[in-house]
Amino acid sequence: MPLDAANLNARFCVVGAGFSGAIMARGLAEAGMPVLVIDERDHAAGNCHTERDAATGVMVHRYGPHIFHTGNRRVWDYVNSHGRMRPYVNRVKATTGGAVYSLPINLHTINQFFGRTMGPAEARAFIAAQARADITDPQSFEEQALSMVGEKLYRAFFHGYTRKQWGCEPAELPASILKRLPLRFNYDDNYFAHPYQGMPQDGYSAIVASILDHPGIELRLACSFEDLEEGFRHIFYTGPIDRYFRHEQGHLPYRSLRFERFEAQGDFQGTAVMNYCDEAVPHTRIAEHRHFAPWEAEGLERTVCFREYSQACGRNDTPYYPVRLLAERRTLSRYVERAGSEAGVSFLGRLATYRYIDMDVAILEALEAADATVAALREGRAPAAFHTDPLA
Ligand SMILES: Cc1cc2nc3c(=O)[nH]c(=O)nc-3n(C[C@H](O)[C@H](O)[C@H](O)COP(=O)(O)OP(=O)(O)OC[C@H]3O[C@@H](n4cnc5c(N)ncnc54)[C@H](O)[C@@H]3O)c2cc1C
Repeated sequence: MPLDAANLNARFCVVGAGFSGAIMARGLAEAGMPVLVIDERDHAAGNCHTERDAATGVMVHRYGPHIFHTGNRRVWDYVNSHGRMRPYVNRVKATTGGAVYSLPINLHTINQFFGRTMGPAEARAFIAAQARADITDPQSFEEQALSMVGEKLYRAFFHGYTRKQWGCEPAELPASILKRLPLRFNYDDNYFAHPYQGMPQDGYSAIVASILDHPGIELRLACSFEDLEEGFRHIFYTGPIDRYFRHEQGHLPYRSLRFERFEAQGDFQGTAVMNYCDEAVPHTRIAEHRHFAPWEAEGLERTVCFREYSQACGRNDTPYYPVRLLAERRTLSRYVERAGSEAGVSFLGRLATYRYIDMDVAILEALEAADATVAALREGRAPAAFHTDPLA
């Protein structure tokens, strides 16, 4: 469709200064198309925002721990062109039943948990004997876990943690959630399997600031979309899609997080992330942020940690994890249909597509969406409502 001639001289607007919005803005600006980026928060970088804790000097991930990992060379080169990435491998520990184990479940976890000294083949056969062979077509998270690891490991590592995380019975959650969790019969405790992993030396906010640093981009913080009065050639919206349409098709629910901050002297837990699987412990994990920047930890006297509590997302809470069960997918499909007939706006990023996506996925989708958008605009076509199908 040709663009509206009346808007051709207006600039573009990007709503949201997270990775998705910043990358789209940069793509437009580099193609000579001026853009205003707004964010209702008082900082850029969205949920990946990092800042120095004033009391301890530790670099803190304000919206929860973010570890960068990708298998995509273009994404890796892109982040490295906007900041220095330092080597970092995510090794998660879990406390359950009064002992500390290594996650994801690996040979060390299995041998320690069952008090054995098995090799890989023996452990594989042992776990196969524990697993529930009668569940041949798992329909829920619980059935999937029981069919993979059996009752004992399921109760110790998944049952209580999942109830705390999602606020519902594991039997109500789809089996697909667990298909993504690895089970290893070797001593590899590297949480992610991707070849490129790291932490930004100066934090994620410095990387996003570099992406936004272009003469064709104006950044306006503490400004919400609903407060804008000027006209734009086209809008790229990275906020919640139901909010854009004033929730006319209903609310899309999220899980939110509450962080309880505390300080300690020196090193509190000896690692970055400790999960708490027992249901009797109300928090899901403790993150000690100095361990995300081990090259800085040496000079720090005090440490800062955050207990993480999962909760339903109220009207004033930050949306974290989308709850994509059957009813929510039906609501989402109504919004997707609505978006398809809304002129002058494209939807991009985790909130506008109502998906959990890691940073590398958000970055790749934004890079490709920016390429496709610039090509469309140069040919006089309107950018698509979505670059990625939220229902796929
Ligand atoms: C708890 C948690 C942990 C995570 N850990 C990791 C990890 O370890 N590794 C990893 O790769 N990924 C992780 N992620 C995923 C990562 O946070 C996302 O990939 C990333 O934030 C996506 O960027 P975005 O720009 O799409 O969205 P966001 O970062 O959410 O940015 C959207 C921005 O839009 C703004 N906005 C929304 N609506 C409006 C409006 N109406 N007006 C103005 N501004 C608005 C918001 O303020 C926000 O700043 C994690 C996510 C969560 C929830």
